[in-house]
Amino acid sequence: MKCNECYYGRYADVCLLTKQIIPVEDCSRFKEICCDCESEAEVIYRGYHYCIDCVMEQFDLEESTTISYYKDGEFLGDSDDMHEVIENLSSEIEFI
Ligand SMILES: [Zn+2]
Repeated sequence: MKCNECYYGRYADVCLLTKQIIPVEDCSRFKEICCDCESEAEVIYRGYHYCIDCVMEQFDLEESTTISYYKDGEFLGDSDDMHEVIENLSSEIEFI
């Protein structure tokens, strides 16, 4: 959050929250802002502040999602091994 977005704000150099002349970074309400999307920054990368989503965009990441399968609350397996899921589904199923 920047001072001009803060409810208290600053008047000249004086933080109206603390009534003191303090560097903006020392204010308890200060938050670094992501340089790409202006949400709260969580990391510094090459001198720039980023949120998690934006720093991940800097790298060409590939995603994969594993789906877990349950029947009546019992874990059958996950999508990494559909063979196991089907096997655990019923002893009456045979692979051909
Ligand atoms: Zn961002």
